[in-house]
Amino acid sequence: MTRVRDILLPQTDAKPLVDGFQRRISYLRLSVTDRCDLRCSYCMPERMTFLPRKEVLSLEELYRLSLGFIARGVTKIRVTGGEPLVRRDIVDLFRALGRELGKGLEELTLTTNATQLAGYADDLAAAGVKRVNISLDTRDRAKFAQLSRRDVLPQVLEGIAAAKAAGLKVKLNTVALKGINEDEIPDLVGWAHGEGFDLTLIEVMPLGEVEEDRVDHYLPLTEVRARLAQRWTLTPLSDSTGGPARYDRVEETGGRLGMITPLTNNFCAGCNRLRVTATGQLYPCLGGGERVDLRAALRSDDPDANLQAALNEAMRIKPEKHHFDISQRGAEPAQPRHMSMTGG
Ligand code: SAM
Ligand code: SF4
Repeated sequence: MTRVRDILLPQTDAKPLVDGFQRRISYLRLSVTDRCDLRCSYCMPERMTFLPRKEVLSLEELYRLSLGFIARGVTKIRVTGGEPLVRRDIVDLFRALGRELGKGLEELTLTTNATQLAGYADDLAAAGVKRVNISLDTRDRAKFAQLSRRDVLPQVLEGIAAAKAAGLKVKLNTVALKGINEDEIPDLVGWAHGEGFDLTLIEVMPLGEVEEDRVDHYLPLTEVRARLAQRWTLTPLSDSTGGPARYDRVEETGGRLGMITPLTNNFCAGCNRLRVTATGQLYPCLGGGERVDLRAALRSDDPDANLQAALNEAMRIKPEKHHFDISQRGAEPAQPRHMSMTGG
C-alpha cells in the first residue's frame, strides 16, 4: 500500500499568495486523478482518454505540494478530480492532510459523485473532513443512467445517506440542463432542503469536447431563479463563502440555494482560488490557458525552492477574468481541457 510519509518542508518563502490584481489566494482545488467511474455527458465523452498513470503525481507528491501551498497561506484544500474516490489509497492523503488542520490548514474537503462514498464516509470524517460537495443532477434512475451513462443512482443515494450518517455536512451540486433536469429542479431543491442539505445550481461551462453541443442544454440560471421565485420566497443572502456562488434562503424550506453563474454573471473579481491537475499543472484560471508546471518543480533537484518559485510565477500570470461564451452553436470549447482534467 502506498504510504504518505511525513514530509517537513522548509519555509523557503512564507509570503502569502497575492496575484497581480491584489486578490489573496487562500483556496486550492487539488485534482488527484483525471479518471472517473461515470461519464456525465456534459463533462466527458464515453470514450474518454485518460492519462498514463506515471504522469499523475504520487500521493507523496500531492502531499508535498499541498504543504507548499499551506506554507503560503492556503487555508482550504478541496480534493477533486475526475472522481477522487477512485484513486487507490486516497484516504492516506486525507489522513496526512488532516494532520495539518489547525496548523495553517483550516478546511479539508472534497467534491465527489458519491458512487463510492458509502465505503469512505466514516474514514473521511475521522481524517478531519467536515463538509463534502456531492454532485447530483437528478434523482430519477433512468435519467441518471442516461446522463451519467452508468446505472448507479442507488449507490449514489447510499453514499449521500452515509455522508449524512457520518456527520458530514452535505452540499449538493446540480448542473442545470435544459430539457434534461430543468423540470426536476424544484423537487431536487425541496428534497435536498428536507434532508438538511444546501444545494447549488451550476451553469454548464464550455470546457473540453463532448459528443453533444452544450448550447442545446445550456440553461441560464437567471431563468431558473425566476421560475423558482414564482413558487417560493427567495431571500438573497449577503454572506458569502468567498466562492463564486450567490446564495438565497428559500423561506418555505429554510434551506440555502446557491447559484454559480459563470455565463450570466461574471464573478472573477473575488476569485481566491487556484487549481492543480493530477499531473501537477497549476491553472490559475478555470477558463484560461495559463499554466505553471509544478510537477517539473517537484521532480527537480531543489523541489521546495522551485515549487515556491513556480507559485510566484502563478501569481504573476493569473488572469483578471475568464471569457466563457456558450452562445454560438458548433463553437470550440473555451478551453480544450475537460472539467474532469482541471478539477471541478
Ligand atoms: N467527479 C466529481 C463530481 O462529479 O463531483 C468531481 C469532479 S467534477 C469535474 C466536479 C463538478 O464539475 C461536478 O459538480 C460536475 O457536475 C461539474 N462539471 C463537470 N463538467 C462541467 C461543465 N462542463 N460545466 C459545468 N459543470 C461541470
Ligand atoms: Fe465524472 Fe464528475 Fe465528470 Fe461526472 S462530472 S464524469 S462524475 S468527473
